[in-house]
Amino acid sequence: MTEKLTGTVAIVTGASSGIGRSTALDLAEQGASVALLARRRDRLDALVAEIDKAGGTALAVPADISDRAQAEAAVDATVEHFGRLDILVNNAGLMILGPFEDADVEDVDRMIAINQQGLLYMTGAALPHLRKAAERGPRDVADIVNISSIAGRVSWAGFGAYNMTKFGVNGFTEALRQEVTQSHVRVGVIEPGAVDTELQSHNTEEIRNGIAAFPADKEMLEAGDISDGVVYMVTRRRRASIGELWIMPTDQV
Ligand code: NDP
Repeated sequence: MTEKLTGTVAIVTGASSGIGRSTALDLAEQGASVALLARRRDRLDALVAEIDKAGGTALAVPADISDRAQAEAAVDATVEHFGRLDILVNNAGLMILGPFEDADVEDVDRMIAINQQGLLYMTGAALPHLRKAAERGPRDVADIVNISSIAGRVSWAGFGAYNMTKFGVNGFTEALRQEVTQSHVRVGVIEPGAVDTELQSHNTEEIRNGIAAFPADKEMLEAGDISDGVVYMVTRRRRASIGELWIMPTDQV
């Protein structure tokens, strides 16, 4: 396969599992040097080793993106190490479901802090570098891909606070796209349906069975189905910006 991202540098948040891990592997395979962000350092170190072994380049940057100082320091560390930043994949996220009246306020705060504030901190810190990358090759374009959800398009009982965070991500993505697109910084969103990752593990069995928008006997997506979408978005010709990609399991209504 032709490596389409040779000479570029990408940050993937939430790279320690699921969609983020798969995205990091796929971007590295396309020739990007990838900074891996998440809190679990052991997992990031293992992924760096895996990418190195496959002939790619990666850097572990342990960080809690809900802390603005850590998010900014992670962007700085990436640019200091690799010298530039071409692609930001805002993927880290948390989903805690259940009726809003029963919700633990701290869980709601954590979802907002990770899914929204963390994404905003990362984006704000990355943008000056992305603008520079769009001015100075190798592609003369830069990318932000935000991983939202079908829950950013459709609401269901039991998803309220998570719905709010993901509707917010969709709204922010399009507003930012309009602000920066003429600088050739492309901004787009991916809205996955059900993907088989650790995301559901933060909910109790009772909640999972009670509000699952997806029946257990149906085939879910795999993380690679979403990282495929990320690679598609960031490898378009400079003139083409993919603003939105909605990826559903064929089995999910
Ligand atoms: P996972 O739970 O497998 O991955 C979540 C990732 O986010 C982990 O790497 C975790 O790493 C990281 N993370 C969580 N909190 C923080 C934090 N404070 N700072 C840095 N990193 C953090 O889930 P998915 O791969 O499924 O989720 C990825 C994205 O996809 C999320 O935004 C999710 O909302 C979205 N999505 C997922 C769907 C699904 O069905 N799985 C469907 C639609 C959207 P660590 O704990 O090491 O920090």
